[in-house]
Amino acid sequence: MAKLLIANWKANPENLTEARRLARNTDSVRVVIAPPFPFLETVGNTIKKADLGSQDVFWSSGAYTGAVSVSQLKKLRVKYVIVGHSERRRHFNESNETVNRKLKAVIDAGMKVVLCVGEGPEYRRNLSGARTFVNHQLKSALKGASAKNLIVAYEPVWAIGTGSPDSPEHAAEMAAEIKNTVGRLSSQKDVPVLYGGSVTFRNAARFLSLPEISGALVGGASLDSREFRKIIRLVL
Ligand code: PEP
Repeated sequence: MAKLLIANWKANPENLTEARRLARNTDSVRVVIAPPFPFLETVGNTIKKADLGSQDVFWSSGAYTGAVSVSQLKKLRVKYVIVGHSERRRHFNESNETVNRKLKAVIDAGMKVVLCVGEGPEYRRNLSGARTFVNHQLKSALKGASAKNLIVAYEPVWAIGTGSPDSPEHAAEMAAEIKNTVGRLSSQKDVPVLYGGSVTFRNAARFLSLPEISGALVGGASLDSREFRKIIRLVL
């Protein structure tokens, strides 16, 4: 199966000119580019081969200051929406219940949802603890949801932006566990699981060659077009 890369730009780059340049230089099939909200329209108009993603969403439109709704994203031709990123959970206090509401709104709108899960440093060397933690996140996020168009990104929190990625063996074990759990909770039997956490060209091939891993969610390395293009070549 073809592997997928999602470029999570976070609150980067600084301006529209840079965003346009980065999008043009990393435009490729099997890539989803998720820029910050102010650049969505421009990036969407720049890319010809990649798909457009959003880093977050709110489940409703109307009187919600600062929010961006599912229908607004859909009109910008956003196809993938990330929910539950650990930075949203940590810095914006997003609960599992919030993640669940966002996930259902995205699925109801017919877009693909990229659900981020991952344990914190307290479970770094504790596989059963990590499994229990991630299974709880999955169960809460998928409560009452169809799991249609679902992609899960397994991102151990301790590996994000630290330069210290997970081992491919551990990531593969967690991906297998996630597939099992989603299969038990829904009708989706072989949910695609991406790995995220300090992916670079040096380590990407090891994750992308694993049968349990369907691609990567890439933060820092997606902002360096030369580096990201080298990762893209691995999935073409
Ligand atoms: C991320 O943004 O989800 C991420 C994994 O970041 P980084 O690749 O920088 O660790």
